[in-house]
Formats: sequence, C-alpha cells, structure tokens
Amino acid sequence: MINEKMYALGSTRSKIRELFEYGKQLSKKIGAENVFDYTLGNPSVPCPETVTDVIVEEVKNPSIHGYTSAQGTVEVRKAISDYNFDRYGFRLNPDLTYMTCGAAAGLAITLRALISAPTDKVLTFAPFFPEYKVFAENAGGSLIFAGSDKSFEIDFNSLEQTITSEVQAVIINSPNNPSGTVYSEETVIRLATFLKEKEKEYNHAIYLITDEPYREILFDNAICPFIPKYYDNTVVCYSYSKALSLPGERIGYVSVSPNAENAQKLYLAIAGAGRSLGYVCAPALFQKVVERCVDKTSDSSIYKDNRDLLVSTLKNLGFTCANPKGAFYVFMKSPIDSAEEFSDVAKTFGLLVVPSDSFGVKGYVRLATCVSPDLIKRSIPALTKLAKHFNLI
Ligand code: PLP
Repeated sequence: MINEKMYALGSTRSKIRELFEYGKQLSKKIGAENVFDYTLGNPSVPCPETVTDVIVEEVKNPSIHGYTSAQGTVEVRKAISDYNFDRYGFRLNPDLTYMTCGAAAGLAITLRALISAPTDKVLTFAPFFPEYKVFAENAGGSLIFAGSDKSFEIDFNSLEQTITSEVQAVIINSPNNPSGTVYSEETVIRLATFLKEKEKEYNHAIYLITDEPYREILFDNAICPFIPKYYDNTVVCYSYSKALSLPGERIGYVSVSPNAENAQKLYLAIAGAGRSLGYVCAPALFQKVVERCVDKTSDSSIYKDNRDLLVSTLKNLGFTCANPKGAFYVFMKSPIDSAEEFSDVAKTFGLLVVPSDSFGVKGYVRLATCVSPDLIKRSIPALTKLAKHFNLI
C-alpha cells in the first residue's frame, strides 16, 4: 500500500514552490520582463572563481567519482575543523563530523537521531524554515514553536510557556530565513542559560541544533556567535548552498560538539540515521571542493546592495520592514491582516512575494534579495502600483 503521508507530501507543493511555478506560467503569458519573482532563496551571486577552477581540475581525476566513507573523507572533515578553529577559536572534532547533502539532509538525520518516541518534540522559533515541520514529523515526533519579539529575537516569555519536558531538541536559525535577524551574543547566552536550567529541571539533555546556512552572509559588521562556544549540547548543521552559492550540488555537514553529552553515541546515531535514510557518502566531487575551498565565500556585498535598494524603495513607498542584518531576505509587514490576500494582490502586478503563514507567523511577506539588482530596479513601478492600491502613497 502506498504511504498516504508521503503521498500528501509529494503531491502538494510548498507555498514558495507554488509561487515559483506560477511565475513561470505568468512569464509565458505576460512576458518574463513583467514578472518580478522574489520567491526563491537561490543565490544570484556566482560561486568564487577558485571553486570553478577546483571543480574543473578535480573532475579530471579518474577516482573522484568513487564512494567515500559514509561520513565523508577524513581530509574534508579535518579541513572543516581547522577552518572553524581559525575563524571562531573552537575546535569541532573531525570524528564527530558527518558530511551531508546540504543542511536539509543534516537536519533530517539529526532529528531522526534525537527523536525516539511519538511524544518527543522539537521546538523552534517563529518565523522558521517550513521544512522543519516535515523533518520533525518524518523523524516520528512533532514540531512546536515559540514566538519572537518585535525585532525577531527570541521571545523568552513565549519560550517559557511553550517548552515542555517532551522537548528533546531546539532548532535555531541565525542569520534567519525569513526575517534576516542575527541573534546577538546576549540572546545566545540567555538561551544557553535557559536551556541548561531546563535540562536540570527535566533531567535530560536538550540538544540545540543550529541551522546555519547563512552564517557568512552578514551585513553592517554584524557578528554571528558560534553556538558551540556557548552551549555544550550543540549540533551544528552547516551548508555550502548559500554562502558558497552551491545549492544544487547538495553539500554540507553535521558536527556534534565534542562537549556534548553522549557526543559519540549521538554521532553514531546520526550516522545510523544517515544509513537508514540512504544519506551515506555526500557528493564526492563536492567534498573535495569543500576541502580545498573551505575558507572561501561568494561576494555577499551584492546582497547588501540589493537589501539597501529594496529596503529603501519599500520604505519610501510606505511599506514597513526591518533592515535585515544577514541572509538574503526582506521580511515586510503586509498592509492588510491576510498576507495570503496581499500576496494574491501583488501577483496581479506581476510581483511574487511569499506570505508568512508557512513560516509560523501571520501578516508578513518574504522577498528574496538574491535576485539581480536589475530586477529590483525594474520592479519599482509595480511596487509603486501595489503601494497605491493599498493607499500607502
Ligand atoms: N535551513 C534554512 C533556514 C534554509 O533557508 C534552507 C534553504 O533554503 C535550508 C535549511 C536547506 O538548505 P540546503 O540547501 O543546505 O539543504
């Protein structure tokens, strides 16, 4: 018999994908130049030239396409450890690091490793990446979420009201998709203190999964604290999709902090989850690319320029949005209660913006700034019409 839950997942598109597909149809109808697609988080900045050079060089190596060990080569895991040590002064253990197909696979296997009963819960903070729910449920548990304050930092009152002893793991994502918030050191320290107290109260470990594909995409001198320095029971889920512009190559890693409780056992459970889900041996060519380009990032100054242009345009038109400190999204308040309805009206002007409901908050839309600066400039007349439609100007 076909699994109904999987059928439901496979036959419905996420709101983001739905809008993206709609955009393609709309382009055929009214011309691509009249469609302003702000939906997908697909980096518009190319990967560094060195990355391309390494790919070209390595692809000629006849043994590059072979299987590596399930957790990835020892060389790439050592390179990752050295890089994080140089950058943050904290040594991740190569033997507790598992190469994955991006952060998505990393999160899926980490949750599979941490959830053992249907009552187990994973807690995150709204707004959050919608796939967390899919991964938590597929791992056999469920996702619950606490709120954020006005600047999208953690709302600790809401956290206190939401957490229960059934919570086995907490996911944070900073810089955040979709809000662009980068958690301050103060927030991280407060969260670490809070979780340590709850671990004592509940008498079990609460693992903090830090989902950080945007870790290097920071603006205005923002600093992204390295979470394992603040909280021992941390699992880092990193991806080269965003800061190295390699989303389609599916490469990232999970690393259990060497200071985590039962670190070795958890690592082996992650390896077991990778095995059970068929996620062994992340793409070999890109393991090599990461080994050789571990300290490289794409030029994120373009995202900053896009952010500046889009935020100032929106504000001049009477819309309300914060200035994101990282990642490549602008999270804008919908001028009407229903973000879905607002997104539908925007569509009539050729503007594709993602309503916030699937991110766990109501009343906002997300605009990806990983688009060409030209698209932003060309969309200004449509944004102006949208603002006029809602009597903002
Ligand atoms: N986590 C967040 C917050 C994301 O925004 C994304 C992708 O957009 C992912 C995880 C998954 O990324 P990956 O391509 O590494 O699987």
